[in-house]
Amino acid sequence: MSHLYIVDDDTLTCELLSIIAEPLFKSVTVFNDAGDFIEHKVDDDDVVLLDLMMPGVDGIEVLRNLAEKNSTARIILISGYDQSVLHSAERLAFDYGLKLEGQFTKPISIDELTELLATVLSKICSENIKSINTTTSSSKPTTTVNFQPNKEDLLTAIKNNEFVLHYQPQINMKSSALSGVEALVRWQHPEHGLIFPDKFIQLSEDTGVIGVLTEEITNIVIIQIEHWRRQGSDIKVSVNISAQNITTLNLPEQLNELMNRHKIPPSMLVLEVTESALMGNLTLSLDILTRLRLKGVHLSIDDFGTGFSSLSQLHKIPFTELKIDQSFVADMDKNNDSFAIVETCIMLGHKLHMEVVAEGIEDKAIYDLLVGMGCDVAQGYYIAKPMPANKLIDWNNNRQSNFNM
Ligand code: C2E
Ligand code: MG
Ligand code: MG
Repeated sequence: MSHLYIVDDDTLTCELLSIIAEPLFKSVTVFNDAGDFIEHKVDDDDVVLLDLMMPGVDGIEVLRNLAEKNSTARIILISGYDQSVLHSAERLAFDYGLKLEGQFTKPISIDELTELLATVLSKICSENIKSINTTTSSSKPTTTVNFQPNKEDLLTAIKNNEFVLHYQPQINMKSSALSGVEALVRWQHPEHGLIFPDKFIQLSEDTGVIGVLTEEITNIVIIQIEHWRRQGSDIKVSVNISAQNITTLNLPEQLNELMNRHKIPPSMLVLEVTESALMGNLTLSLDILTRLRLKGVHLSIDDFGTGFSSLSQLHKIPFTELKIDQSFVADMDKNNDSFAIVETCIMLGHKLHMEVVAEGIEDKAIYDLLVGMGCDVAQGYYIAKPMPANKLIDWNNNRQSNFNM
């Protein structure tokens, strides 16, 4: 059973929190001085209710200290300040790799806090059961978590066709029609199962394999578009490309030749570039991206708002689409700053004659807000998770028969 630590200089708040939490925890300990808390040993499944604003050692220093100790305690942040302070602290906790379970602004709602504490406790319980099951029931422990691929593994995987694409639908928010799909690469490893891009894209970039990998991905996409067209569906596909892919001067010609060979109009392909990919040689990427656009390929600026591109870069490069980063979309119904950023991105995109896509839409409330704001295209788990190519047409047909977005 877990212990709860309340770290807050305000004694009244501490009393209130103790009364709420005592029935749920093995013990409840109050620290009015964060300096004392730092000296204390906290176990992995313990829960910490942490006030951010304290005299002396503050909540941010406590977060840093927990990170230095590699603590996996569950943290709930409290602040008398506005949402933006909590949001920054939340990002910081995330960057430190801490287990942040929630946050509250004062005055705290007793019902909401009780519910969150109960949820955290049941999560700890079910995670412990899961870890007991995986260590006892599987005779062959899964090595996926520890699998650290190297360059050779990547090249072998390409040779053995182990990279597969899943496609995530994008919906036109006015007509509800399927607007296109984003191709997302996965590695179907014979021993380690399905591996997600966070495990191998960076490595592909660092080892220079990304050139061959993107070529492989683009080939799969073109063949898939051709296949769907033969079945009577014209589906536009977005492909993610890395910085290194836009350093090959003849990329536009290569792509053009590939699409011609398969009789696919260039407008059926969208290349997604992140802002950080444009940080290198801007003149070279401008040359390549402009010629791609001239040949009719669409260009999208991905994860917009998280990189460092200046407005003039956005103006210089002929993007046709702006994708608002999912971190803003995810909490726009609760966080005024995120709401304002999303609103501004939509306005900016429209002023620059771009189609605006919101990604990371997880529920109807956010979908409805975005419809009201005039966003053009929706992507996210609320609509559908990425799926294998052979599931897409059925998914779209079933959706049309019982559509309720
Ligand atoms: P991205 O291009 O921004 O893709 C969106 C990511 O968000 C995908 O993760 C997608 O599965 C996930 N996602 C979509 N809707 C939701 C939602 O409602 N909630 C949440 N929490 N997540 C959602 P995935 O497939 O793991 O890809 C992660 C990143 O890896 C991509 O981010 C992209 O930067 C990179 N990536 C994926 N495929 C490729 C590729 O073929 N080439 C390159 N260079 N990068 C790729
Ligand atoms: Mg993308
Ligand atoms: Mg994105």
